[in-house]
Amino acid sequence: MSKKTAIVWFRQDLRLKDNPALTHAVQNGYDILPVYIYDQDNAGEWAIGEASRWWLFKSLQSMNEAMKGNMVFRSGKAGDILPALIKDSGAKAVFWNRCYEPWQIARDKKIKEALKVDNIETESFNASLLWEPWEVLKSDGTPYKVFTPYYRKGCLSKPAPAQPQDAPEKISYTDFSPRYSENDLELLPKIQWYRKLDQHWDVSEDGARARLDHFLENGLKGYKEKRNNPALDHVSKMSPYLHFGNISPREVWHTARLAGMAQNLESDLDCFCSELGWREFSHSLLYHFPDLPRKPLQEKFKAFPWAKDDGALARWQKGLTGIPIVDAGMRELWETGWMHNRVRMIVASLLVKNMLLHWHHGEDWFWDCLVDADLANNSASWQWVAGCGADAAPYFRVFNPITQAEKFDPDLEYIKKWVPEYGTADYPDPIVDLKTSREKALEAYQQIK
Ligand SMILES: Cc1cc2nc3c(=O)[nH]c(=O)nc-3n(C[C@H](O)[C@H](O)[C@H](O)COP(=O)(O)OP(=O)(O)OC[C@H]3O[C@@H](n4cnc5c(N)ncnc54)[C@H](O)[C@@H]3O)c2cc1C
Repeated sequence: MSKKTAIVWFRQDLRLKDNPALTHAVQNGYDILPVYIYDQDNAGEWAIGEASRWWLFKSLQSMNEAMKGNMVFRSGKAGDILPALIKDSGAKAVFWNRCYEPWQIARDKKIKEALKVDNIETESFNASLLWEPWEVLKSDGTPYKVFTPYYRKGCLSKPAPAQPQDAPEKISYTDFSPRYSENDLELLPKIQWYRKLDQHWDVSEDGARARLDHFLENGLKGYKEKRNNPALDHVSKMSPYLHFGNISPREVWHTARLAGMAQNLESDLDCFCSELGWREFSHSLLYHFPDLPRKPLQEKFKAFPWAKDDGALARWQKGLTGIPIVDAGMRELWETGWMHNRVRMIVASLLVKNMLLHWHHGEDWFWDCLVDADLANNSASWQWVAGCGADAAPYFRVFNPITQAEKFDPDLEYIKKWVPEYGTADYPDPIVDLKTSREKALEAYQQIK
């Protein structure tokens, strides 16, 4: 007799190891129908950007391989597609891991209610975060708005994140057709600009693990200092893998702790774990303040006198501002789909403070160009740099990109790698005078203070 079927609805958990929804279905004796739904309709303004679609495509390709071609692919509204798949497969249950974007929360809630009415078992799990946003609250029950107490008092006083679960030893799949393939989702554009990304990333669950191991062996020692130097290979580059769930944060956390303790790297390890803590903090902010992607957390910034200058914005986007560290960063982003964190802060500061262009422009550009584009991390970080966020630095602290470069790229290694024409007549003059533009930013701030 055939066994009962459960749909495992994959989203931002594109892995077999430490995937609680999948493990739950297997352990409860279900045959599995693994499903991915490309739901851009519900995403609205936050439909997946172009570079991220490439990452998604590669992740799905490698997941489907790992699942021996058994994945089912659909495009459209998940709320319409799941009931149709249930009908056609006779599935009795749907399991998934939670996402934290406001549009996904709203959609998933509706789906859960509708499936319950139809007597379909549903259960959702935590696969993406170390601590749930509703678990880490101040003693008065309100969410933290400042990182250090959030992380040190809130998170670290909770039980440690659970150990990652192994991948199921054996998965039994339900026969089903048509399955379609990841190609049918039409994630890739006609112009194959994304070929260059292939040189930089191994997008798969094994690729995530290999990259993490490489970092822990070569980059963790000295991370606390050297993570600020964009020419050095001293950061993990885990961000896209964490966003799409090619690896679980619990696995990253526990593997890093083991490696850090074995090498006696207490302060580097503490620093690395606290960066994972920033990711948690951003997700907590998005959960508790769902307007985070568009509305400044500090109300007064609604009246900020932003400039409008499409030409200047285009120069920033293309890496032609004439400010070397900024142009290096913008070109690294264009070529690799990723940018070093220190440089993200510098390019963002130039845009919103020296150029006085709205942080939404930067947020949108990053959204489209980053392979790790993440609604929580991206919007929280842009608000932080713009000075309107939860735990933002005081407004008058405007990054000086020249002194930043002297400090963090002293040998011009990073700049020369990405801006080979730097120092020649082909390189443009600076788009702004750093001193006068800083003064103008401070004047603009006085208007809303
Ligand atoms: C303007 C701006 C926009 C950003 N947009 C994004 C984004 O869309 N997606 C994204 O994942 N990160 C974003 N970040 C945060 C950060 O720059 C990246 O997470 C980091 O550079 C990723 O590189 P890594 O994996 O080597 O980091 P590591 O230094 O190795 O850190 C390990 C992990 O911790 C997390 N992390 C590190 N720094 C931060 C941070 N400041 N905020 C939140 N999480 C952090 C990431 O998941 C990262 O993979 C942004 C930062 C700025 C200043």
